[in-house]
Amino acid sequence: MSPSYDVIVIGLGGMGSAAAHHLSARGARVLGLEKFGPVHNRGSSHGGSRITRQSYFEDPAYVPLLLRAYELYEDVERATGREIATLCGGVMVGPPESRTVSGSLRSAVEWDLPHEMLDATEIRRRFPTLAPKDDEVALYEKKAGLVRPENMVAAHLQLATRQGAELHFEEPMVRWEPYRDGVRVHTAENTYTAGRLVICPGAWAPQLLRDLGVPFTIERQVMYWFQPKQGVRPFLPENHPIYIWEDADEVQVYGFPSIDGPDLGAKVAFFRKGVVCTPETIDRTVHEDEIQAMADHMSRCIPDLPGTFLKAATCMYSNTPDEHFVISRHPAHPESVTVACGFSGHGFKFVPVVGEILADLALTGTTEHPIGLFDPSRLAAAPA
Ligand SMILES: Cc1cc2nc3c(=O)[nH]c(=O)nc-3n(C[C@H](O)[C@H](O)[C@H](O)COP(=O)(O)OP(=O)(O)OC[C@H]3O[C@@H](n4cnc5c(N)ncnc54)[C@H](O)[C@@H]3O)c2cc1C
Repeated sequence: MSPSYDVIVIGLGGMGSAAAHHLSARGARVLGLEKFGPVHNRGSSHGGSRITRQSYFEDPAYVPLLLRAYELYEDVERATGREIATLCGGVMVGPPESRTVSGSLRSAVEWDLPHEMLDATEIRRRFPTLAPKDDEVALYEKKAGLVRPENMVAAHLQLATRQGAELHFEEPMVRWEPYRDGVRVHTAENTYTAGRLVICPGAWAPQLLRDLGVPFTIERQVMYWFQPKQGVRPFLPENHPIYIWEDADEVQVYGFPSIDGPDLGAKVAFFRKGVVCTPETIDRTVHEDEIQAMADHMSRCIPDLPGTFLKAATCMYSNTPDEHFVISRHPAHPESVTVACGFSGHGFKFVPVVGEILADLALTGTTEHPIGLFDPSRLAAAPA
């Protein structure tokens, strides 16, 4: 049997890489096991950019976690020299009563976050690429922007390794079981023991965490890059905010400034317009009618964006029924196992603070961060 560890982390994507960093920074002997290679594109943490914002329309309960995440972005940037966050500002656009606008405003007011409300005329004046309808408004948040998922994952892996964590790639966990006061983890090659297990499986939650009883839905999502009609200059981060735009039919799109150079355009996507899949069955081909639907939608709100289609990529959401996360000690193994899953298409901006929470839970059994909203018992099926 291989040597034992304080903590084994399963999955070294967004959340697991951050957990490996925070655990090893606290002196724990950490083993990380990942199914694929480092910083891969087969899970949920790739595609160059993720929106980050604080006036959180999903629920004000997320705001204190975001305030901490922003501090940690800076720590990671300082410790590794990698670019993590670009705070170019952001607009949440839609009818005033839309969830995107009214929910963002609720969080901003409740937490006294700096923000401005813009009417359609002011949106057009401040951000000339945007073409809102006369009855649409926006909450502008200067501190919104984007984080770079590949850089964040690479930085956390780098820090974990520097702090002595052992990270094994292309070595998936096959199964685990309780063992003495901790756990025993099996891979095809080896068996490892540890006092604690942290499981961050992303889209593999239905397989690895079936015993939580949470009805996860894995969804295929598509990201699109277009070369704007007039070139990228008006779309550079110094000129262009990130945006989430909800129309009267509650369809949400979101997009980014151009961050990858003059020839790589700007990225845009539908928020939550997915097809149910599994990691094994996901269709990785992006079809002509999908590209056309994205271009048609954007030609109504940002007419200059859908010039030439450049490329598209697929990714997976792991949804819970209420779209809130699951972060908790495992209800059936509270002493030894901690889980983080069901990030429902909005988890990446929280990656560093989730790493901190997982280290708290694994090492001390508790955390000072407010995570009551993420308790899996709210979703678990009642016993028959
Ligand atoms: C298209 C798209 C756009 C998004 N946009 C945003 C956004 O703008 N803002 C935002 O905040 N969030 C966004 N999200 C959500 C965010 O990216 C995810 O919530 C986050 O990446 C989830 O991280 P994770 O660690 O749970 O999953 P992952 O990063 O996928 O990590 C899970 C890891 O577990 C590994 N694994 C699985 N099974 C095993 C096993 N048996 N053994 C070992 N390893 C295993 C996998 O290989 C994978 O590396 C978006 C997601 C998508 C798909």
